[in-house]
Amino acid sequence: MPTDEDLIRAALAAAAAADPRDVPVGAVVIDATGRELARAANAREATGDPTAHAEILALRRAAEVVGDGWRLEGTTLAVTLEPCTMCAGALVLARVERLVFGAWEPKTGAVGSLWDVVRDRRLNHRPQVRGGVLESTCAATLDAFFRFHRP
Ligand SMILES: [Zn+2]
Repeated sequence: MPTDEDLIRAALAAAAAADPRDVPVGAVVIDATGRELARAANAREATGDPTAHAEILALRRAAEVVGDGWRLEGTTLAVTLEPCTMCAGALVLARVERLVFGAWEPKTGAVGSLWDVVRDRRLNHRPQVRGGVLESTCAATLDAFFRFHRP
């Protein structure tokens, strides 16, 4: 089985392949056996789609690969940045078992920073969470992007 660090490294590789106009966030989904189902990068600018966050694209592709409906039970999603409210909601709806993320996102994060959507006790499905994996590497990737694009 890949370690959480392996998964974040795969997500970083996905982020590196993002369109240069897009904020480089990457995500990877594996199944319970460790097989990679999908990886994706944020593609909002490239696609003109406001919902084209890395997590959403990776979940869609993973469900296509599994080919057995929309439930992604037993899967782990790793992403380089703390998910937003939309993506945190999608993780819950997809029944993702575990979420691993890299950098914390104090401005929009919905897995502990501003909200904690995935661990809300009112929900009947709550993914396990590990945040801050390879945090400084993930944060540096984003810092470099914003330094270049928004000096
Ligand atoms: Zn998102």
